[in-house]
Amino acid sequence: MIPYGRQAIGDDDIAAVVSVLKSDFLTQGPAVPAFEQAVARRCEAQYAVAVNSATSALHIACLALGVGAGDRVWTSPITFVASANAAVYCGASVDFVDIDPRTYCMSASALEAKLTQAERAGMLPKVVIPVHLAGQSCDMAAIYALSQRYGFATIEDAAHAIGGTYRDKPIGACEFSDITVFSFHPVKVITTGEGGMALTNNGKLAATMSLLRSHGITRDAAHMEAIDPEGWHYEQQALGFNYRMADLAAALGVSQLAKLDDFVARRREIARFYDTVLAAADVTTPYQDPATSSAWHLYIVRTTGNAGGGHRELFDRLRAAGIGVNLHYMPVYRQPYYRRLGFAPGYCPEAENYYSDAISLPIFPAMTETERDQVVKAVAEALAR
Ligand SMILES: *Cc1c(COP(=O)(O)O)cnc(C)c1O
Repeated sequence: MIPYGRQAIGDDDIAAVVSVLKSDFLTQGPAVPAFEQAVARRCEAQYAVAVNSATSALHIACLALGVGAGDRVWTSPITFVASANAAVYCGASVDFVDIDPRTYCMSASALEAKLTQAERAGMLPKVVIPVHLAGQSCDMAAIYALSQRYGFATIEDAAHAIGGTYRDKPIGACEFSDITVFSFHPVKVITTGEGGMALTNNGKLAATMSLLRSHGITRDAAHMEAIDPEGWHYEQQALGFNYRMADLAAALGVSQLAKLDDFVARRREIARFYDTVLAAADVTTPYQDPATSSAWHLYIVRTTGNAGGGHRELFDRLRAAGIGVNLHYMPVYRQPYYRRLGFAPGYCPEAENYYSDAISLPIFPAMTETERDQVVKAVAEALAR
């Protein structure tokens, strides 16, 4: 089976991890700050806080923005469940804004319509979490304009998108948001095993997130509440978590980050190949907003009507042909947990359309020419039957 995504680990990555194993610190040593600085520099953000997953990063990002019981957080229905769960962890209620039918990212016009209604009802969101699906940025300038008008904060869920750009700036620069979150899970663009990071240009948000990732504890005398603290003194100032990234993971991150541009270039090359070969096929290839350059975490096609026996049949044929196709994602509100919170299938019509015909084809840097040929051949055969 050709997987839809796979990490690319080289000897340099292995050497980087081994050198941490032989060093004094497996965790809380120099590799984490080095990785944070490298990502912040690469993405043109002032601050970066490394954690053990993007899910943790989303959680502490929500908390730093003051999300709590009684607050509302809105996200996209076409995302991994973590984008919504983070708000629920904080005791907030979640709602979903329908997607743009061309980019499959949160639609700025659907957001505007929902905000207009929410304002009348006195139910505006505190935080909105747009998701850069497949690695392509949402229309952040439009979302930012709405955030200014309606007074909400914005967290970019960029779990798919490190290495992409929006209006010629790296995703992560937070030009149009308060915080941007990356994931370093092995299927994502670069990996640390498990891992995530929150980027921001706001020093206060960065300080709060740093505190929350490590039990709410500070060891920095300059920031302690005690006057004249003893040498052994540390303070827990908030209810935090153990969300720290280990140095082992961060060393892998530094090594992977050095190859980010190569990885994205390889992904883009595969996307171009699919675009060209599938142009005449009975599927819709991904639309690219000219303001963006995608990191190509995913390559998503939409099937057409009954071509290839219809969506499910085509999916099954491709799996049977050894192609590890996937569907990213079922609308989050259709998950049993969210249904129990009161959401019903059909809630977001464009998300439903998408769910009825989307398929992710394999795309990863180490994919060989033979493998990508196998994919397009299998697609052509599955459609022809
Ligand atoms: C993978 C993913 C996450 C969660 O990332 P982890 O690092 O596995 O916690 C969050 N949001 C989206 C859109 C993702 O794809």
